[in-house]
Amino acid sequence: MESLSNELSEKLKNVEYNYKAIENNINEAAVKSGRKREDIIFLAATKTVEPKVINHAVSCGLKYIGENKVQELLSKYDEYDLENCDLQFIGHLQTNKVRQIVDKVSLIQSVDSVKLAGEIARQAKLRNKIMDILVEVNIGKEANKSGVLPEQLDELLCSIKDIDGISVKGLMAIPPICDDKSLICKYFENMHRLFIDISAKKLDNISMDYLSMGMSDDYCEAIMFGANMVRVGSALFGKRIYADR
Ligand SMILES: *Cc1c(COP(=O)(O)O)cnc(C)c1O
Repeated sequence: MESLSNELSEKLKNVEYNYKAIENNINEAAVKSGRKREDIIFLAATKTVEPKVINHAVSCGLKYIGENKVQELLSKYDEYDLENCDLQFIGHLQTNKVRQIVDKVSLIQSVDSVKLAGEIARQAKLRNKIMDILVEVNIGKEANKSGVLPEQLDELLCSIKDIDGISVKGLMAIPPICDDKSLICKYFENMHRLFIDISAKKLDNISMDYLSMGMSDDYCEAIMFGANMVRVGSALFGKRIYADR
């Protein structure tokens, strides 16, 4: 018992330390890219992290959290400190699970098909709400990865922009995993260009408010290349431990 609680308090201390370090880094990158700290959203990717630990990060000042699995979100839902933070969905979403989360999250970051957008809209309308969404772009054009291909983005946006019940608020991307920072930056740059191009078109019902990209290893670079939302997991909470692997 004694050692368990020591372990937890050690973990919480680390989260607090990491939180401050990430805050500093975000602030620095924001300023270097000509913006302010408050222009950038720091969302914590909370998969595998216990609510106790998540809520500690919230008590440190964290304002946004994101889950990537419906089941996990539901199992932790009652324990999140949602008075003090905003819950979003950042993972791949199956249409048959949409109804389980539309009344629980403020933004769904991972929309990549007309079918998914349509189901989110239908479920949102049943609850008299408008669901904010981001369109996920498969910027590395990887096989078997979610996200719309960059060359199909315009077409998808045109097909979903007039659907009642959803509101497109920007773009999200997860670039290919690789050690070459300059290559990752290239993907960030390409995403930023898409973001700017679409903003310039001023499409009805589409606002390019958020460009969500950058994770633990590259959030500073992402901010330098125009991200205004970063999704950080392991740099805040430590290495993930998967119970089922
Ligand atoms: C886990 C996850 C992240 C964060 O990953 P880290 O490398 O741990 O920072 C970001 N985005 C999504 C969609 C995730 O699932």
